[in-house]
Amino acid sequence: MEDISWKVIHDYSQIIRLLNTLAEHKGLDKMIKETNQLDDFTVFLDMDGVSVDFVGGVKNLLGEPGKTLDDWGIEEAYGFNEDGFWEKVDTFEFWSTLEPYPGFDDFYKNLNEIVSNVVYCSKPSRHPISASGKLEWMQIRYGKRFRDYILTPQKHYLAKPNTILIDDKDKNVEDFVNAGGKGIVIPQTWNKFADLAEMSWPDKYDRTLKLVKEYM
Ligand SMILES: [Mg+2]
Repeated sequence: MEDISWKVIHDYSQIIRLLNTLAEHKGLDKMIKETNQLDDFTVFLDMDGVSVDFVGGVKNLLGEPGKTLDDWGIEEAYGFNEDGFWEKVDTFEFWSTLEPYPGFDDFYKNLNEIVSNVVYCSKPSRHPISASGKLEWMQIRYGKRFRDYILTPQKHYLAKPNTILIDDKDKNVEDFVNAGGKGIVIPQTWNKFADLAEMSWPDKYDRTLKLVKEYM
């Protein structure tokens, strides 16, 4: 009986799942298996604005815009219309060479130590080259056989009680939480934690790790 991981019964949804299992008169083996699966946490990790510095990459490409740069409204800051902006930015080289934020590699390593799965979850731009550039970025770091990624604009389809989305867009996290997952917004000037955006990146990542642990 020691194998029954009562320690994981820490939130309402898990208790409901256990009760459902009992109510359906499933066998004890199956109940233990399902309970242990609750330990199986997946973190979906956004790329732009969370892992890599999209805004910094645009600055390297186009120079300083003369206006405060946010992720949203970046086209206007450079005086382009949307199409004109993306024509400049959407290249294989741009997406595959974006710099990770300071401390990201340690964060990624630590995250992998505390949860079962860490999966990059990123929305490609409208140009198909963006998806291949992002995949190249991952393969440069983790090799050709790297498989822990999902490229999709519909991140909330992945939401389950034992999943966490880490993203810089309030709406993405909101949709994910509404669909039954958990979410963490990483502070940026363009989201609801703008007042924390001045924190150093290693501090932002430490804060994020702490929040992940609280959810588990
Ligand atoms: Mg993002």
